[in-house]
Amino acid sequence: MTLANLNFSAEVAAIMGRLGVPATSLAGGTLSVRSPINGEKIAAVAEINAADTKAAIDAAHQAFLEWRLVPAPKRGELIRLLGEELRAAKADLGRLVSIEVGKIVSEGLGEVQEMIDICDFAVGLSRQLYGLTIATERAEHRMMESWHPLGITGIISAFNFPVAVWAWNSALALVCGNSTIWKPSEKTPLTAIATQAIFEKAVSRYVADGGKAPANLSTLLIGGRDIGEILVDSPKVPLISATGSTAMGRAVGPRVATRFGRSILELGGNNAAIVCPTADLDLTLRGVAFAAMGTAGQRCTSLRRLFVHESVYDKLVPRLIQAYGSVTVGNPLQSSTLVGPLIDEGSFSRMQKALDEAKAAGGKVSGGDRLMQNEAADAYYVRPAIVEMPAQTGPVKDETFAPILYIIKYNDFDEALALNNDVPQGLSSSIFTNDLREAEAFVSDRGSDCGIANVNIGPSGAEIGGAFGGEKETGGGRESGSDAWKAYMRRATNTINYGKTLPLAQGVKFDV
Ligand code: NAD
Repeated sequence: MTLANLNFSAEVAAIMGRLGVPATSLAGGTLSVRSPINGEKIAAVAEINAADTKAAIDAAHQAFLEWRLVPAPKRGELIRLLGEELRAAKADLGRLVSIEVGKIVSEGLGEVQEMIDICDFAVGLSRQLYGLTIATERAEHRMMESWHPLGITGIISAFNFPVAVWAWNSALALVCGNSTIWKPSEKTPLTAIATQAIFEKAVSRYVADGGKAPANLSTLLIGGRDIGEILVDSPKVPLISATGSTAMGRAVGPRVATRFGRSILELGGNNAAIVCPTADLDLTLRGVAFAAMGTAGQRCTSLRRLFVHESVYDKLVPRLIQAYGSVTVGNPLQSSTLVGPLIDEGSFSRMQKALDEAKAAGGKVSGGDRLMQNEAADAYYVRPAIVEMPAQTGPVKDETFAPILYIIKYNDFDEALALNNDVPQGLSSSIFTNDLREAEAFVSDRGSDCGIANVNIGPSGAEIGGAFGGEKETGGGRESGSDAWKAYMRRATNTINYGKTLPLAQGVKFDV
């Protein structure tokens, strides 16, 4: 079947119906939704206005005041039910992710699996929101650290992980005792509406089982940047977790800071890998191919820069160019497809501009041409591009959110390490080597300056158990596993005197 013959509207309505979303919420609104698979308009959903956004913030604040009183393990029970509902909805929601964003089938399903995984993590976490007991210098005193719910967590998310980012934030925020408000990408409202419906199913079961869940615990705001800005500026939203471009973070970060709010910024990446003389080249080829071409280069962790040692350059790069030339690009719903479409025309134009700039800077380009435009004029498929660059110049230092892999030859390990770090972004990085010294140096204090540094694995495809995020222009935020939960709570230090005297700290005397 060609792209022109595909028709998603009826299927989308059926999926949404099964997930509990009425057909009326898919039509008549001001925000058009199109599938990047064939450019078809699949829905027109309603957008919220400024007054209703402010009312929603007030309602979410009220929900927080009640939810924070529910014991954390009981809050975890709601997230356990959410995980169950997501398991039941996995096939439908995964398919919807593929239709709305253009991800291949396994990546659409994988995104929902990530939501399930973070729910499991958060359920365990709900019994592990530990503080410390700290030695005190005063007799008959106890000093401890306790963690408390913070308030509304405002979540602003990007198009490329339309639902997992909500889950990373919400599962943690909710077990931590916060309410949440979500402003998804204006390119992906349908998966957000579906996710909200799944959450409401979990709440209904929780309440039916005797759980106390206030109304408006999780609120969805469909709208553009202006709606995000209201969240960003509201003093009733103590934490803004914003995922998207560095340009967005540059606008959001200072605004939140101006009102002394907290932010978790998860911004753009420009991720590199170093291929060393001892690398297993078969493994490297697969690792590079997935990291650079997977999700059509539209992951924040996509591999964009490859530094190849001169001794293996001619063994690896021609094989990579061949893999790029033969990888199946097309309808992401077909099981043989590995690379689906770009999200939209703007994305295609930015890719072509970067390729032109790379050529002007001496780059040798393979691929990058548009495919299948005769089948669907409003869908943007491209052959992933490899650009052999003489140096790390021009567009190589920027994040272009498309499948372009810049390759640079190196001859000295320290030079490659310096190149890895010599970009404004600091999200993810990898080294392919069987030399212990190189591997250890890469993950050491003098190694990669990124939030993620991998050995013999590409930079994309993180697991939820680790803290996720990056340095420099990537924003410095951490989400998901490890102790990322601490960002969603407020910390209090408590000193308790159980004696009959009042010794003052640092031996101060103050007898009145
Ligand atoms: P984007 O910056 O265009 O939009 C992201 C979200 O921010 C959208 O919901 C948008 O409406 C909102 N927004 C934009 N400007 C705003 C403002 N001034 N105030 C409030 N909200 C605002 O990003 P995108 O094109 O959807 O996504 C791609 C980008 O996201 C890439 O740069 C990618 O690297 C990045 N990303 C980062 C991570 C990460 O974890 N580091 C994860 C996914 C995507």
